[in-house]
Amino acid sequence: AEDQLRQSQKMEAVGQLTGGLAHDFNNLLAGISGSLELLQIRVSQGRTADLDRFITSAQEATARAASLTHRLLAFSRRQTLDPVPTAVDRLAAGMSELITRTVGPSVTMRIASAPDLWITRVDRNQLENALLNLCINARDAMPDGGSILIEAGNAALDEKAAPGHDMPPGEYVSISVTDTGTGMPPDVIERVFDPFFTTKPLGQGTGLGLSMVYGFVRQSGGQVRIDSAVGHGTTVRLYLPRHRAELPPPEPESNAAAAPRA
Ligand code: ADP
Repeated sequence: AEDQLRQSQKMEAVGQLTGGLAHDFNNLLAGISGSLELLQIRVSQGRTADLDRFITSAQEATARAASLTHRLLAFSRRQTLDPVPTAVDRLAAGMSELITRTVGPSVTMRIASAPDLWITRVDRNQLENALLNLCINARDAMPDGGSILIEAGNAALDEKAAPGHDMPPGEYVSISVTDTGTGMPPDVIERVFDPFFTTKPLGQGTGLGLSMVYGFVRQSGGQVRIDSAVGHGTTVRLYLPRHRAELPPPEPESNAAAAPRA
């Protein structure tokens, strides 16, 4: 009976993960389709200068989609994260183009970071998916436009400050997405991490975004906190454990002059 229970829990996890990947996959397809549409408009207007970035953006999204399917295949063996030392402000900055395009022109986006930001150790693909999901939720909460602030900071938390009861006090890197949208009433906040919970119209929400974000952050040793006020907006803040180490040296190709390593 215990085996059966374990098996059914495993199947449930597989279902949640594949549903989650489908959700991310659809987000990427939407991005690719958007880039192609812009490309088509430009070409039909004869404005053929500076088209590279639309092509690059579609190519990047395609590469990310390929990495998603690879992970899905990898999961048929085991669900693994690939954590590496990461500066989350740099990771967010690297996504600004993709996010800006995804949230559309009615939403302004800004990234801010504390000085001397600590390093965390995290699966970068998963963190990128998480941030994109949070920004899409932010956009959906601002149908008449608004602004998104992505903020990275250092957080030394004692017992009182650590969010949730299952997060040890300690040093964390925080990354938050704040919007000026509709906000959420308490009964919604209570359920947002439940898989398939959505308040969006049929066909527009899967209810998997935040449950995936939550699953990934918990698996990374962190915690998620939501602050929201109806009519004012929402902050979703991820806490990721500080990693006490230097970032690895830059990639060899961008560092050709460096001394050879053993
Ligand atoms: P989905 O976006 O597909 O509905 P999520 O798990 O990402 O699934 O979100 C669940 C629900 O949480 C949303 O349907 C919405 O009601 C609420 N929500 C999430 N993020 C926000 C936000 N930034 N502002 C307002 N409501 C939000």
